[in-house]
Amino acid sequence: MLKFDDRVAVAVSGGKDSLTLLYILKKMLAQRNRTKLIAITIDEGIKGYRDESLEIVKDFCSKLNVDSKILSYDYLYGTDMDKAMVLRPSGKKMTSCSICGTFRRRAMDIAAESVGANVLATAHNLDDQLQTYMINVLAGDVERVGWIYPEPIRYSTNNIKKIKPFVEIYENEIAFYALQRQIPFQSEECPYMHESIRTQVRQFLNELEKEHPGIKYNAYNSTMRISKNLKSSMRPAASSKCAKCGRISNGKICSVCNTIKALRQVEY
Ligand code: SF4
Repeated sequence: MLKFDDRVAVAVSGGKDSLTLLYILKKMLAQRNRTKLIAITIDEGIKGYRDESLEIVKDFCSKLNVDSKILSYDYLYGTDMDKAMVLRPSGKKMTSCSICGTFRRRAMDIAAESVGANVLATAHNLDDQLQTYMINVLAGDVERVGWIYPEPIRYSTNNIKKIKPFVEIYENEIAFYALQRQIPFQSEECPYMHESIRTQVRQFLNELEKEHPGIKYNAYNSTMRISKNLKSSMRPAASSKCAKCGRISNGKICSVCNTIKALRQVEY
């Protein structure tokens, strides 16, 4: 996934997965002194939740001697998650995590670009990937099932290589590693997380795994094959520039600008 002289932005939230990823990459790359790691952290603006993790990330990065950069939704979009929860129009299907996910993907791209990275590493694990697949199936969103083909390496429109080194690893194995290595991580849960069906899907898959060990890994392999086949049958989305912000978009207005428009209830 990595070349000798890559400049790698590691998306670090302060949770166990991302801090473990940073720790392992630092350890693995210690001998390759031309590979540079930079931790990037996105501050969603969630009071009482993000503050603790920002401190943990800051301390951990300084302990590992890794440079870090923080970008906030407020700085990028003029709103944060706490404000967005108040502003979102009722009647529209705007869940906390759908707003947050749209903002975060863009924020991570901008953060990686701003530190001159050519690789963006995220700590998505097998459980995340499987849950996302199931959420899309349950929502009837077949297109997205194709999009999420869980390739561990993908190239984005800004030519940044996106890698998911943990995509075949169970979440609880990463937690075990973090505890065993005494990696400090945030324990506080996001106050908005229960709006998403993800919590129920996670519990359901964990129950199944308890009764049938290995079932998540089997399901993951099936999802890979299904989404790969779907992806190859889909026409590539026509991409153009967003008329509002100028970034690459599949429509006239990109999803981030559309979300901001809905929150502020303005017309472009
Ligand atoms: Fe954002 Fe949802 Fe994660 Fe909270 S749980 S940080 S709202 S994506």
